[in-house]
Amino acid sequence: MFSLLRGLWDYFFRREEYYILIIGLHNAGKTTFLEQTKRLFISNYNGMPLEKITATVGLNIATVDIRSHRMILWDLGGQEDLQQLWDKYYGECHGVVYVVDSCDTENLITSKNVLIKAMKHQDLQEAPLLILANKQDRQDALPLTQLEATLDTNSATIGGRDCKIQRVSALQGEGVKEGIEWLFNRVNESSRRLPKLRDND
Ligand code: GDP
Repeated sequence: MFSLLRGLWDYFFRREEYYILIIGLHNAGKTTFLEQTKRLFISNYNGMPLEKITATVGLNIATVDIRSHRMILWDLGGQEDLQQLWDKYYGECHGVVYVVDSCDTENLITSKNVLIKAMKHQDLQEAPLLILANKQDRQDALPLTQLEATLDTNSATIGGRDCKIQRVSALQGEGVKEGIEWLFNRVNESSRRLPKLRDND
């Protein structure tokens, strides 16, 4: 009887989980974005001061709940040698956040090429893509129109996936909630990869 009740409980209260990759060049602001997301979506979260964030060597993970669903965010290190490891996560992921440093004009084309390479990987075909034009609080940030023109995302470069370029300041939190909500809605509506089902805890 207990196992029957337990089974029913699990069936009705299982949670759908979506796996989201956060990638981009080193120093673009991925970990700051992850921390800011935790602050916005996890109640009573006492995070570390954002200025204390150090370079990611490996992986940072956050779990946030949105409207009875769960998003597991993986923030992967962006150094060149760590980029080789990204594709190990592509097979599991439902959506991608790609962070661009809007002030780093020197590396913008590199960032674009890294993005295109990732989007051409077969395990990411049609995965919804949120591009964050980060550090928009800074005076030297390129405006969104210029970034859009340079990144030139079109079906030839990133495929026919859902894609949005969002203006953000991960440091100040501006645009972070809108970006996460957009991506959640896209992966939730997408039939590309079914969510994982996990017992509620
Ligand atoms: P990651 O290597 O992509 O994870 O980048 P980090 O999150 O570690 O950030 C790299 C640096 O950029 C840190 O000094 C952050 O404080 C800074 N940074 C990140 N996001 C912003 C932002 O929106 N505005 C400004 N002004 N600085 C930012």
